[in-house]
Amino acid sequence: MKKIQMVDLKSQYDKIKSQIDEAVLNVFDATAYINGPEVKEFQKELENYLEVKYVIPCANGTDALQIAMMALDLKPGDEVITSDFTFAATVEVIALLKLTPVLVDVYPDTFNIDIEAVKKAITTKTKAIVPVHLFGQCADMESILQIAKDHNLYVIEDNAQAIGADYIFSDGTKKKAGTMGIVGTTSFFPSKNLGCYGDGGAIFTDDDELAHKLKSISNHGMSKRYYYDAIGVNSRLDSIQAAILRVKLPFLDFYCDTRRKAANFYNEAFANHPNILTPTVSSFSTHVFHQYTLRIINSDRNELHQYLLENQIPNAIYYPVPLHSQKAYGNSHYLEEDFKVTNDLVNTVISLPMHTEFDLEQLKYITQTVLNFFKK
Ligand SMILES: *Cc1c(COP(=O)(O)O)cnc(C)c1O
Repeated sequence: MKKIQMVDLKSQYDKIKSQIDEAVLNVFDATAYINGPEVKEFQKELENYLEVKYVIPCANGTDALQIAMMALDLKPGDEVITSDFTFAATVEVIALLKLTPVLVDVYPDTFNIDIEAVKKAITTKTKAIVPVHLFGQCADMESILQIAKDHNLYVIEDNAQAIGADYIFSDGTKKKAGTMGIVGTTSFFPSKNLGCYGDGGAIFTDDDELAHKLKSISNHGMSKRYYYDAIGVNSRLDSIQAAILRVKLPFLDFYCDTRRKAANFYNEAFANHPNILTPTVSSFSTHVFHQYTLRIINSDRNELHQYLLENQIPNAIYYPVPLHSQKAYGNSHYLEEDFKVTNDLVNTVISLPMHTEFDLEQLKYITQTVLNFFKK
């Protein structure tokens, strides 16, 4: 059996090797290494795919969030509500900009931000909500957009994990994840669903004025060459990465389908198991399975983690510590009773290998080994 990996980037590369190699070598020949024509082309192609007016490429998904918050002119002390159960980058940039992160609990079944908790967290200082479309499916955007409208708040979608997912509004209209808030961000980190071969990220918006600011801030705050209207950062996408992304973007929907097929295989194998809760998919979102995350009940998740490792099955705990309990992000105002779900999830979740390159033998071995654990 081919060695099982958490994310099998090598097998994916092997299938598109000739196209990738050619695209990268062309950039070497063209010598436009940063923000070159490849970046502009990729930007247009991603705008078309997402049906969004502007894509602003940048250096990584963390910068994308930071640039979005800078462009919205959020000021020190402004409160920004986000999820307690996410990758640290989301809250890191809020804190870096001296805004006040307000962490709230999530839903136990979808792991996405809890709407009642968001409402409860709103104060006169609240300026923005940052929903994270965790593990590959959208947060409840219709409710979030309504709350934002009622309270005059910005919505910044952290879409690092759900690019390609569709949100379905109650009137039946669909929008791509990341294109519903005033601004959306993503990451092209290699293991993300649309990954490049290094760091990369992008920001999305339909707003003309905001797009102009986002572009300028990502390039030192420059409006025209050597004229600086705002303080910016150096955060641009390399042409090599854009060339790779141009090869991979046409495969994104296929990659999402392939992940869904693997998820279905897992779901069927674990259906109705007394110790395993398989992922819940919201009625209002498709799921692109950036992660396939189980909840383990009435059994020892950590033992399962070890057992799988001993059986050569990589697996991961996303995330082992709630953000509100982290040294960097704790706050004496937080009450543990407000984080019942996250406090439980950190002890019960486990993510299985998830990528686009499984063969049936591997999936059978993974599911059988998980099931064997509970028979011990
Ligand atoms: C990966 C990720 C980021 C950061 O992306 P980088 O490109 O690694 O900076 C931000 N938010 C979430 C939810 C992520 O998963």
